[in-house]
Amino acid sequence: MSKLTTSVLITLLLACCSLFMMACKDKVCKVCSGKGKHVCEQCEGARVLKCTICSGEGYTICNRCAGTGKTTTENYEYVSVKGKLTSKMVRKSLNCPNCKHTGKLICVECAGQKHKKCTTCDSVGALICNECMGTGVIKFSLKLDYKK
Ligand SMILES: [Zn+2]
Ligand SMILES: [Zn+2]
Ligand SMILES: [Zn+2]
Ligand SMILES: [Zn+2]
Repeated sequence: MSKLTTSVLITLLLACCSLFMMACKDKVCKVCSGKGKHVCEQCEGARVLKCTICSGEGYTICNRCAGTGKTTTENYEYVSVKGKLTSKMVRKSLNCPNCKHTGKLICVECAGQKHKKCTTCDSVGALICNECMGTGVIKFSLKLDYKK
């Protein structure tokens, strides 16, 4: 074996060694940039979601009075006109009992809060990174490397 071959072999061996050492190190999780968690995509970190039922208004328009707060009732009543009983339609305006004259109903979905808890992140605003299990680092594992 020539001197040159030996030195080439040693260099290769050293290169392999340093590569192995590098591979053995824990790596910063690329998925979460080492933070261990993501900002919740559903609420974008706001922890709450705008209520879709009331569009974030906190109330819905009363469907009974179409938001006017009044309902009209139509009743036929017998009235005496020139001594004769005739039926006549009588319209009465009433305060809407459904919305108590306000024309609005408190949103049943968000109870007037205008927003709902984010169920995706349980109102934390962030999600634990699945890739690194919230540690921010990927632990070196021989098994994993063998599979690749
Ligand atoms: Zn969320
Ligand atoms: Zn009403
Ligand atoms: Zn609502
Ligand atoms: Zn991660």
